Amino acid sequence: MKSAEKIKWAAKEALIRLKYMTVSSCIFCKIANGKQKVKHIIKSGSVIAFDDINPVAKVHILIVPKKHIESVSTLESKNAHDLIEMFKTAAKIAESKKLEAFRLTFNGGKFQHVPHLHMHLLAGSKIDWSKL
Ligand code: 5GP
Ligand code: ZN
Repeated sequence: MKSAEKIKWAAKEALIRLKYMTVSSCIFCKIANGKQKVKHIIKSGSVIAFDDINPVAKVHILIVPKKHIESVSTLESKNAHDLIEMFKTAAKIAESKKLEAFRLTFNGGKFQHVPHLHMHLLAGSKIDWSKL
């Protein structure tokens, strides 16, 4: 094999390994596949929702597509359905919990700690915008 071909092959292998590692070790994929238990899980079409383990508001629910999508930065047009499902699930939860006011947040870049797209539904506490 020529060296250029070797480099191409190694790069392809590395990409496959990286993709596999990301999905197989992803905590939200484990929750979606039932391999990791969480409190109050809601399953709705292509998304799941569950209480955040470290809440920053009285109500802090994570809404997550079952499919591994890394972040807002890697969204593609084909993910449109998952995004709509996430917003619809948020609206359903807000209605069922009779939330008078709520916020939906996506973290990105260095603010995102779990590399699997998720929406935070926050309610019941005031947010000090000057600290953000
Ligand atoms: P990020 O900073 O990526 O936007 O938010 C990730 C959120 O996931 C954090 O609020 C964190 O508390 C939550 N989280 C991380 N690991 C787990 C877990 O194993 N179970 C639950 N329920 N929440 C988690
Ligand atoms: Zn994942």
